[in-house]
Amino acid sequence: MRANCWMGKTSLEVQNVPDPQILNDRDAIVKITSTAICGSDLHLFDGYIPTMKKGDILGHEFMGEVVEVGRGVGNLKVGDRVIVPFTISCGNCLSCQAGLFSLCENSNPNAGIAEKLMGYSPAALFGYSHMLGGFPGGQAEYARVPFADFGPLKIEDDLPDEQVLFLTDIFPTGFMGAEMCDIQPGDTIAVWGAGPVGQFAMASAFLLGAERVIAIDRFPYRLERARKTGAETLNYEEVSVPEALREMTAGRGPDACIDAVGMEAHHSSTAMHAYDRVKQATKLETERPHALREAIMSCKNGGTISIIGVYGGMMDKFPIGPLMNRSLTVRTGQCHVQRYTRPLLERIRNGEIDPSFVISHTLRLDEAPKGYVTFRDKQDECNKIVLKP
Ligand SMILES: [Zn+2]
Ligand SMILES: [Zn+2]
Repeated sequence: MRANCWMGKTSLEVQNVPDPQILNDRDAIVKITSTAICGSDLHLFDGYIPTMKKGDILGHEFMGEVVEVGRGVGNLKVGDRVIVPFTISCGNCLSCQAGLFSLCENSNPNAGIAEKLMGYSPAALFGYSHMLGGFPGGQAEYARVPFADFGPLKIEDDLPDEQVLFLTDIFPTGFMGAEMCDIQPGDTIAVWGAGPVGQFAMASAFLLGAERVIAIDRFPYRLERARKTGAETLNYEEVSVPEALREMTAGRGPDACIDAVGMEAHHSSTAMHAYDRVKQATKLETERPHALREAIMSCKNGGTISIIGVYGGMMDKFPIGPLMNRSLTVRTGQCHVQRYTRPLLERIRNGEIDPSFVISHTLRLDEAPKGYVTFRDKQDECNKIVLKP
């Protein structure tokens, strides 16, 4: 089969590789009909994530048709159309029983490596390094799906791929970001990062009853997309964000702040950013958390900080004083995707949201390497790329 393979830092090749095989009773093989490139794939592309090996197949947002099932998969049959959550979860362990699917205790066979490098091991993810399981990803013609009796969701409607594909990651991730804000009528929610996850967080905040959403980014086309979802916008290269937010909220700050940026926050003009760059380059700090610091500094007294942007390790200059003295609550987590797939599919069916609004490009799988560059460099107003094997 054809697959998009990681060949080294910023080097990808679509290659012929062996077809995946059923290895365990609970496996299924899915013939992929649509897959996407995610912002977190760029962390792999740019070489930020250790334990990648030459030839690893990328991709964790994919859907398709079941072509083979193991003996233990009673709920799926050949021909079923499914979306596959990016978190691989067994459904049986204590974390899965508690609904903490991104912390599944059984799915990562390399948990020891993750514990050594990060101090902990989350669930395994598709196409996301060997310390997170080494499972081949879905930017390919086929993929092996472990625990297929638990994770994948059958799509029985005639909804097109473009409307349901993002149930695999970014719609649930954005939704969880908004849900963690415990939104009350009249609330104002600020969202750092107006990329696809941020756009879903904004749309979800409105679905959950926010009165106002304020999007913070620096790319005019992304801010324009945010305005289309009904958000007000701030360009952080033009204004001081904490000041502007106070002005927009009668001096109090937003009721909740969502960090949809994570470890590669960009802020060219501040000394703090230069400090983070140096510390990160010399491996004294693993994150560049400008957005998170700003969110904490800007939030209303007693408000909530919801972190859905991805972090991996340690940060410096953490504003613990403002966080503590102003009674802020921090809520966070890798998305527990399986919690949200059914209820969000229901919202799509009901016409409350059409997730295809994020797509800017549809490419052939063979064009994936070019797509990564277009997406990373924000060429051609690139927002979200769907790949067709
Ligand atoms: Zn993703
Ligand atoms: Zn589990």
